Parts: sequence; structure tokens; C-alpha cells
Amino acid sequence: MENKINAHNSILELIGNTPLVKLNKIAESFTGNFYAKVEAFNPGHSSKDRIANYIIEEAERQGILKEGSTIIETTSGNTGFSIAMVSIIKGYECILAVSSKSSRDKIDMLRSMGAKVYVCPAHVAPEDPRSYYQVAKRLHEETSNSIYINQYFNKLNTKAHYNSTGPEIWKQTNGHITHLVACCGTGGTISGTAQYLKEQNPNVKVIAVDAYGSVLKKYHETKQVDPNEIYPYRIEGLGKNLIPSSADFDAIDKFIKVTDEESAHTAREISRTEGIFVGYTSGAVLQAVKQLNAEGEFTKDSNIVVIFPDHGSRYMSKVYSDKWMEDQGFFDSKTVESTQEIQFIK
Ligand code: PMP
Repeated sequence: MENKINAHNSILELIGNTPLVKLNKIAESFTGNFYAKVEAFNPGHSSKDRIANYIIEEAERQGILKEGSTIIETTSGNTGFSIAMVSIIKGYECILAVSSKSSRDKIDMLRSMGAKVYVCPAHVAPEDPRSYYQVAKRLHEETSNSIYINQYFNKLNTKAHYNSTGPEIWKQTNGHITHLVACCGTGGTISGTAQYLKEQNPNVKVIAVDAYGSVLKKYHETKQVDPNEIYPYRIEGLGKNLIPSSADFDAIDKFIKVTDEESAHTAREISRTEGIFVGYTSGAVLQAVKQLNAEGEFTKDSNIVVIFPDHGSRYMSKVYSDKWMEDQGFFDSKTVESTQEIQFIK
């Protein structure tokens, strides 16, 4: 009898092949059938595991990375966590320049995974030497034997999703997907997935979710970067104050914007109605679906796939903190059920 141990060789083998889960209660009143690709099932709890592993393995194939090399990146948190995770397994140093908008939890998580973290001011122009782009560039120049992943300007980011997220969704829906709704930050997820899906069926409609305070939607419509569109917002990982070349705007049919407040409430609603503990941008995606549904975008035969990029545990001091919600004024305009009171047994 063969005594075979049924184990994975490392955590990296668990990247991708995330489940597609039907949305029930929250979508009950919507027209169409709604399914969520739950990327928190990746071992690093976000879609960014896919790009970290793919880009690093490509660099290894090209002989750019060798044992002991340093990997540098700018990240709102998730990409950093994934790069740190891959670096541990493969034996690389990891340096991350993050935005001061990132939650303390996220920064501590990166440090827990052995990364060296630089926190840079969020509300400065990309060309400012203090911005996380410039800090990462400088560190790359100063550190010998290093690579800068540069996810916003790296086509391999898009390719990672073309090779994995797209084929998985096509297979999971048996080709019956009619709409893809996903966030656009670097644009890697939505455009790589869209490129693959549209190759299979050009009629798949692809809708990107953007933030108020980001230039992406207007750029898609006008091919102009309008500086008036840029102002601070709270959602991390969604929208941008520059045009990322990792986004293939031609693969996207339209953009829709969502507010910080409605996205936060919708994230909490997903957790409470579907039992899927999601991050802030998952709330943004489903908020967009609510708006699209109200606009009559879907029919009863539509099969809509939404991508939930990460896990709610990364937002305990933000969206899932009543205090934070209150401080933002998110409980002011409507009466909403806050999380349950804690019962202390004395
Ligand atoms: N949601 C979260 C939480 C993210 O970190 C990101 C990545 N910036 C996105 C959505 C958007 O994904 P992409 O960069 O592939 O457009």
C-alpha cells in the first residue's frame, strides 16, 4: 500500500482557484443572478497573491532574481503582504513603501511577515519625492541586486489575471457569465480578467468600479486626466490619481463611481447578510452593483460575477469599527443598525 502524504509543498501552491459563491439575501431584490469570486481564499487573503507570485516567478525565469535579492514595491497593503509572503518562501528581502492612508493593522501585518516598511504621506503628488512611488524608486536605485515590482506600470500584473482569474471565472460559470464587475486600482484584476473573458465571448460586459476623488472614470470617457477629479477619499486600493499602464482601458466597457460612505455600509451588509467577511472594496463593488441594478443594467437572465478582493479582518480599525464609522460621519445621514452591543458578564 502506498503511504503517500497528501500535503502541499508550500503555501504558494494554494494561490488561485478561489471559489465562486452565489449571493443570496443581499441580491434578493436585484434583477439577475449574482456570484462573488472570493479572493480572500488566497493564502495571503487577497487577489494580490496572484500577481506577487506570477511577477516574482517571471523575474526568476528571466534570471533577474537570485537568492538573497531584494524585492521593492509601493503598496496599499495587500500587494505588500503577498510579496512578503512569497519572499519568505523564496528567500528574498522585502522592502515596502506604503501610503499613510493604510491602516495600522495592515502595516503591522507587513512587518509581521518580515517586510521593512516605509510609510509615506498619502496626499502628495506622485512626482513629490515623499510619495511612495518616488521613495520606492529611490530605494531601488540605492539597493544593489534589487527589483521594483511597480504594479501600476507592470503589464505582468495584468497578465497574472489574464492567466488565472479570467480562465477560472470562465470555467466556474461554464461560459455563462454576462457581466464582470470589479474594482479598478492598478486595473490589473479587471483588465486582465476582461481580456481573457472577452476573448472567449466579446459580449461579456465589463464594468469597473472607481472612487470619487479618482481620475480613472473620466479618463476612460475622455482620455484626459482632469486634475479637478483628484481629492482625498478613504477607500484603500480603489481608484487612482494617475493613469496606470497596467490598466487596459479598452477592455473595460464602462466605469461607475461609488462613495466612501455607501461602500462602507455595503461591506458591513455583505458580512451580515452573506456571512462573507469582506474588505472595504468588496463593499464598493457591491455598492456599484446596487447602482447598476437601479439603472436597469441587468435582466433576469444576466449572470453577474463580482470580484471581492480581500478579507474583512484587514479593516477592524476602519469599516468594522463603529467608532471609526461615527468619526467619518457615516452614521449621520441614515439610521443604520450598528454592530451588536457587547454584553459584559459581571
Ligand atoms: N481592492 C483592494 C483592497 C486592493 O488592495 C486593490 C489593489 N490596489 C484593488 C481592490 C484593486 O485591484 P487592482 O489593483 O487589480 O485594480
